Amino acid sequence: MDRVMNRTVFAAYDLGPEKLQQFVRLAQRRRPCYLLGYASAIHAAAMAFDQAVRPELKAVISTGEVLYEWQQQEIEERLGVPVIQEYGMCEASVIAYSCPRGSMHVLDSLVHVELLDEDDRPVDIGATGRIVVTLLRRHTVPLIRYDTGDMAAEVEQGCCCGRPGRLIGRVQGRTYDLIHTPCGRTVPGVLFTHAMKYLKDVKRYSIVQKDLDRIEIRYEQQRPIHGDDLAIARKKMQEAVGPGVDLRFIAVEALAREGSGKFRWIRSEIRGGESAAVGQPIAGMSHRSSINASEATESDSDVG
Ligand SMILES: [Zn+2]
Repeated sequence: MDRVMNRTVFAAYDLGPEKLQQFVRLAQRRRPCYLLGYASAIHAAAMAFDQAVRPELKAVISTGEVLYEWQQQEIEERLGVPVIQEYGMCEASVIAYSCPRGSMHVLDSLVHVELLDEDDRPVDIGATGRIVVTLLRRHTVPLIRYDTGDMAAEVEQGCCCGRPGRLIGRVQGRTYDLIHTPCGRTVPGVLFTHAMKYLKDVKRYSIVQKDLDRIEIRYEQQRPIHGDDLAIARKKMQEAVGPGVDLRFIAVEALAREGSGKFRWIRSEIRGGESAAVGQPIAGMSHRSSINASEATESDSDVG
């Protein structure tokens, strides 16, 4: 517990059933106003509450990982409050946040955001580009045109909420989370996460592209998955990547998180060299009476 910040921090790298029940009991005792954490950790925590014991929250704040639309829907349904998305990194602090209308507003006074195509040209409205940031207020280490490795679409400006600031589309999987096909296409990770929804008893999984023609899908199953469900999920993925790619489904006892406690749903190993260059998202900010469902290392907790 962090008394100065009036928050309770819960480790995200070990969110098994037992830990989640501890978390539920702690939330009942501490009655938090906010829940803040990595998208996957918040999702797991939200699913651990049933209607009777869910806390009276004001909001849930997702940070540090891409928040998929289905995760947001399920968290909002389960906890009955909106999810605020916070987009940022250690190197650049908070870059953008979502308003109640769901638009992502850039903190223009702090950061200049560009959405660029593969030739470093600004993308057109509706097209998706790499998020490249320049910090406008920093006196120690300047950060100029820093490629975050994340992607977002260019959207029409002006949000009906009336808040100022440039708008960007929903932040999508990091560039190295895109799956590459043997015929040179890139496939957005969201197609795979959608396909995995057919496996209803699978709550956690990790999709790793081992090679151009081989993808491994490791999953934790609560009970043996139905053959028909598996066939549908496989068919959807195969349609996305084409017939030349071998899809291997492997049931495992427990999936490993990365050292930081973050959970990577989709990872490509065939462009591993590029992944080292991209920034790591921030882990936490201070909020009154919040429970932080993310890991908090010293270097992360002093950011924001
Ligand atoms: Zn807005």
